[in-house]
Amino acid sequence: MGEKVLAFETGGSTILSGIIDQEYSKIYGLNKKKIISDNKRDYMKDILLCIEETLKQSSFSLKEITSIGVVSAGKWNFKNGFVTPPNLPFRTEPIPVAKRIQKNFEKPVYMENDVNAGVLAEVLFGHGKKSDSRYIGYLTISSGIGLGLYDKQKEEIFSGETGQAPEVGHNVVEKNGLKCGCGGRGHWESYGSGNGVVNLYEKIHGEKMSAKEIYETAFEDDEKSLEVVEKAAEYNAIGVGQIINAYQPGLLVFGGTPVFKSKEMVFGKLKKLIENPTRNHEYTYIDEENMPELRVSELGEKNILLGAGAIALKKFNDKRL
Ligand SMILES: [Zn+2]
Repeated sequence: MGEKVLAFETGGSTILSGIIDQEYSKIYGLNKKKIISDNKRDYMKDILLCIEETLKQSSFSLKEITSIGVVSAGKWNFKNGFVTPPNLPFRTEPIPVAKRIQKNFEKPVYMENDVNAGVLAEVLFGHGKKSDSRYIGYLTISSGIGLGLYDKQKEEIFSGETGQAPEVGHNVVEKNGLKCGCGGRGHWESYGSGNGVVNLYEKIHGEKMSAKEIYETAFEDDEKSLEVVEKAAEYNAIGVGQIINAYQPGLLVFGGTPVFKSKEMVFGKLKKLIENPTRNHEYTYIDEENMPELRVSELGEKNILLGAGAIALKKFNDKRL
């Protein structure tokens, strides 16, 4: 079984933890919790509890764990282990997620952006492993929208000067538009993500409906929901078109709960807009024969957690506390 690491992921609506070994054959003690706390102190307590429960359920002792991979959406401060996740139910300011985990469990902690872990998981175990492309992208459409980019030749994640890039979910698609979870306005994810369709539904129809309900009723041809889902797909085509123009990945893998659960309504509609040959360069500049392959992740909702484990096992980029 070899080396074992703990993997932890926090998103905008759930936290997950598990133990992964060198063979990545299984996630031991997988624990998933909905974020229900309304303040950062309780949120932090729930995180530590989630990891403790993983240790209990897996029947491994802390002694057997060599390090911990911690991934989150939002902005990391890799020097002090604080992160500012953008879509939590409470107002977000820097939270000592990695720092507290390190202090509590006294193990080296490797930090990374969630989508960077996602792209690494795709390259190691998913569509990216089978692909001949050099540049692989992983796009999550969940509570927010995020992109991870990987250069297979250099074995490098592209993350900009301070490790925060590419935050494409916060590209402006409407000046002074709908409010985004980050505090800005008119950002792509405030239209195209799970939270985005909720915003759009309220804006267009003046009523609130959950993202799950919107996608499900749209699938059953409900006109009001379909209108919203199609509008969101247009914004997603704008965002994906910008990614293709700016980075030209050879393969772009899609993940996130709305993509997995409502594949046709999210991925299907977006793919049709992007790949429609009659809409000449409507969303993209790249020539048709050079367009990336667009796929949905086969790893499912555990892909980012697997990536978190891979980051700790490979000591990837060595952003360590
Ligand atoms: Zn934003």
